[in-house]
Amino acid sequence: MTRRLDSETRLTVVIPCYNEEAVLDALAERLGAAAARWPCQWEVLLVDDGSTDGTWAKMEQLHRQAPRWRAVRLSRNFGHQLALWTGLQYAQGDVVAVLDADLQDPPELLAQFFQEWQAGWDVVYAVRAKRQESFFKRLAYKCFYRLLAYLADIPIPLDSGDFCLMDRRVVQAMLQTHEQEPFIRGLRAWVGFRQKGVPYERPVRAAGKPKYTLSKLVRLGLSGILSFSIRPLRVATWFGLMVSIFSFLVGIFTLVQRIWADQFARIGLGPVPGFATIVCGIFFLGGVQLVCLGILGEYIGRIYENVKGRPHTIVAQTLGVDERSPPGRPPGPS
Ligand code: UDP
Ligand code: MG
Repeated sequence: MTRRLDSETRLTVVIPCYNEEAVLDALAERLGAAAARWPCQWEVLLVDDGSTDGTWAKMEQLHRQAPRWRAVRLSRNFGHQLALWTGLQYAQGDVVAVLDADLQDPPELLAQFFQEWQAGWDVVYAVRAKRQESFFKRLAYKCFYRLLAYLADIPIPLDSGDFCLMDRRVVQAMLQTHEQEPFIRGLRAWVGFRQKGVPYERPVRAAGKPKYTLSKLVRLGLSGILSFSIRPLRVATWFGLMVSIFSFLVGIFTLVQRIWADQFARIGLGPVPGFATIVCGIFFLGGVQLVCLGILGEYIGRIYENVKGRPHTIVAQTLGVDERSPPGRPPGPS
């Protein structure tokens, strides 16, 4: 299948921003320069994820200078995934691109994504072949994506982030899911269609500090694993089973040891008051039970969140955005 990206096609570039005042000018410049070569109509949808610096003022300025820079302001910091989700809900383009604000996802790469889209791929996602980040961070990412791929019930491509180009159909399909804590790169894989990865080297952020704190990263990782796999629950079962078998064997050994106490004493394995064994056993079993309860708790917590059915985010203000209710949201006053 081939299709053309021409002057009839509308592209929306969705960019979630949290305290990105320092980088927005550079972003506008780089993106503008790259876009000068794009054959399609394009617009940018910035999502201000409750920034506390001058990010919104910068967005207003960008919108005044060029109305194709549109913006949605969330009422507080909801986190990157939910900000991006809101952006996808408001994106009107026939094709939708997703970028980070900090220029770690080079806008120049989109030209290559367009080619793949024209060749019939519905999702073109970037694969981080190399990262210019600290050793620890690289190792953590590497382990996480491999663990996720192993645990997940559907194939989720390794080392792919949210940086991608998606056909309208794909976005619409993703928005039909109603998860309270959407793990977007996972849902993107889950909806199917024709998907292609494009490797790239991920540069360091252009300016400012990372807005993903360690706790936000852990939360993202947990949300990825828990929303795409029930295997951790099975791990708990296996773990419990193994411990039970082990304690059963220890029980048999103790019995045998009692019966042939003299023989065991001769080889230095005679019965001794089993204080240490008992204490170790209690702590070990206690630990296993707590781990299993914790795993159950994570899932139950998620069920609870989903049952509440709250909207993903609250939009406080918009700039140049169609005020009609975005898809996936109940109609309400704008
Ligand atoms: N971000 C956001 N809300 C948050 C944290 C981050 O919208 O609570 C945005 C941030 O502005 C950036 C993108 O998510 O555009 C990626 O964040 P960051 O660069 O800090 O993450 P990293 O690249 O270190 O994983
Ligand atoms: Mg970054």
